[in-house]
Amino acid sequence: MSELISWLRNYANENINSRLIDERRCIPPHIVLDFGNQGLLGMQVPLEYGGLGLNNGETMNVMEQLGAIDTTLSLFVGLNNVLGIRPLLNFGSPSLREELLPRLATGRELAAFALTEPSAGSNPQAIASSAIPQSPEQWIINGTKIWSGSAAWAGIINVFVQEKDSQGNFQGISGFTVKRGTPGLKQGPEALTMGMRGMVQNTVYFNDVAVDASQKLGNTGEGMKVAQYAMMYGRLTIAAASVGGMKRCAQLWHRYSSRRQISTGRLLENPLVLARLNGLTAAITTIETLVTSITTWLDQGQEVPVEAYAVCKMAAPEFYWEAADNLVQFLGGRGYIESNMAPQILRDARILRIFEGPTETLTAFLGSRVIYQPESFKTFLCDTLSMPEIYERFEQTVQQIQDYRQSPFTEETKTKNWTAILCGEVAMWGVLLAVLEAKAMSSTSESLNRAIAWTKEHFQQKITQVFAQTPDELVISSANKTTELISDYENAIGNLEQTLAGEDREVDEFLRLGDWETGRLGDWETGRLGDWETRRNIENWLMNWLGEKLNLSPQNIDPKQAFADYGIDSVMAVELAQDLQEWLGYTQQLEASLAWNFPTIKSLAQYLSTIESEDEIVEEKFAVNDSKIALNGQSQGTSSTENPEIISDISNYSEDEIQTAINQEMAELESLLKRGYPS
Ligand SMILES: Cc1cc2nc3c(=O)[nH]c(=O)nc-3n(C[C@H](O)[C@H](O)[C@H](O)COP(=O)(O)OP(=O)(O)OC[C@H]3O[C@@H](n4cnc5c(N)ncnc54)[C@H](O)[C@@H]3O)c2cc1C
Repeated sequence: MSELISWLRNYANENINSRLIDERRCIPPHIVLDFGNQGLLGMQVPLEYGGLGLNNGETMNVMEQLGAIDTTLSLFVGLNNVLGIRPLLNFGSPSLREELLPRLATGRELAAFALTEPSAGSNPQAIASSAIPQSPEQWIINGTKIWSGSAAWAGIINVFVQEKDSQGNFQGISGFTVKRGTPGLKQGPEALTMGMRGMVQNTVYFNDVAVDASQKLGNTGEGMKVAQYAMMYGRLTIAAASVGGMKRCAQLWHRYSSRRQISTGRLLENPLVLARLNGLTAAITTIETLVTSITTWLDQGQEVPVEAYAVCKMAAPEFYWEAADNLVQFLGGRGYIESNMAPQILRDARILRIFEGPTETLTAFLGSRVIYQPESFKTFLCDTLSMPEIYERFEQTVQQIQDYRQSPFTEETKTKNWTAILCGEVAMWGVLLAVLEAKAMSSTSESLNRAIAWTKEHFQQKITQVFAQTPDELVISSANKTTELISDYENAIGNLEQTLAGEDREVDEFLRLGDWETGRLGDWETGRLGDWETRRNIENWLMNWLGEKLNLSPQNIDPKQAFADYGIDSVMAVELAQDLQEWLGYTQQLEASLAWNFPTIKSLAQYLSTIESEDEIVEEKFAVNDSKIALNGQSQGTSSTENPEIISDISNYSEDEIQTAINQEMAELESLLKRGYPS
């Protein structure tokens, strides 16, 4: 094990240039290959699959070392091991494990994790991607995932979707492993992130992607269990990497302040520096003790409660962020210069407070757990850590918060959420203190005693603070009042939005293969490219229309983004067809399904610009639909316009029947719009 750590240190000194990785926004291939050859990409994969078979303590030692070398690299390695391989290792079918683990463990392929969607981030329960059965053993996945780390480079992606039965009834969230090259799996654009720039984070489209039972992670409805299982461990990994990152901050901060003279003398002798730097060393010991305690329990086969993982993720990234910010600050102007490492550390550390559960989400989660399901927290503090006094102090505080504390809100839900946040903050410090005190029962050291004193003071201060009204509470107003206040700023500073175009990154239209978005290559083959000016006009009209509906500036509308991604529902699709018809001056009614058949502004404008006469559009619009709903609700291969009998039959139907038919058609359109399309 120490060999691997010393290999990493030598390798970092000789072969890694973090600034280059950051500037080029790419981890160079030699690092991925060398890490793969060393087994770093499959640390806990059993030896028989080609992994290193490391235990939890050993794995976290590597993560700490990587965090000190380069936070981006630690996240790259952590993602592959934890969110990529772990679900497969523990919930994958035997055939999937046999097939994939040897390749993943040695880094011949990378693994990614796709949970987040445009409408589901801190609340993953809101995911809308779906898997619908085609047969008892096969599902079709549709949906869009965003910011999936390593996805564009990955051989497999663990994706989490709503599983439905053949009638479309929700069965629960399920996980599947999708392999690269599967038809319908399309990598979308890369997000230009603030930090972690060496890694790719991109959108992933699932358009009718077929998966079978061997690719399922766990059983139907166990997707969140699988995802949480991986993410809980990810929170521990992030804490270990943060320890490495904080130690590196302390080293650089100390190096500068021990050499630098300021007005009071050597910077390191300044009381403020000594107080802050020693606060950092106490924070490091605290998180280190938490991580070591958890890995020891895990390696002894003990269960670790979710509260402990939540505290890892709440505390470590906040402490690391403070360390990185102090590093920039106490390096003075040098802290702001890119070549001095601190800016990159700051950027990289920032994401840790957001992903895998933002601090605030986890604070509210922890607070709710300790208020409404206190048994697990109580067992953890009283039995696992043998710290009943800390639990009692905490229990009293929670009771007092609920009994006496004045809520700044009148609505009950807001009061509950606010109380959960307050209790979550106190609980975090309570856990940290209990872990340190428990450690001190078996061994003690000066740094441990200092960490205990530091944490105890924070715990007490937090309790005092929750009973005093905070300055923010004094000025809280309702959401409407807040909106009013902020709207007034427009008078002072205007409503700015820069619209000057940036670089043109598009390949010239003459050099492109064809219009892959619509698949209507015929237009290009016959030379009917459409009038470019007409197309631009239509595009502009559509961008203005959408901008107006969504209260967005048209410049912010991406003509290659799917209408569905902008939240266009069936009602808006009908409106769009009507307004477009009016603007184009057509007498024939345009179908609302245009927004489905041509899912982006670009593809719709391209289509309309090639239409030479209104008659053509009427002929074509039915050619692209494969079914129509007639008034009796049955699918029918013809349309009411083509079949005048249906129109004349309207009088034979009651208002309710007509309404039911409209509702069914709307529902069908809605479900079509919700299917993901590549932008
Ligand atoms: C660089 C990067 C890499 C990522 N990698 C992946 C990946 O590999 N796979 C993947 O699936 N996802 C990934 N994500 C997504 C990430 O996990 C989400 O961004 C994160 O879960 C937050 O979701 P959101 O951005 O939608 O924030 P929102 O849900 O919009 O929340 C916004 C903010 O609201 C606050 N908030 C939320 N809940 C509460 C609450 N209960 N009480 C008070 N305040 C609250 C928090 O401050 C939160 O940050 C990545 C994101 C980034 C930026």
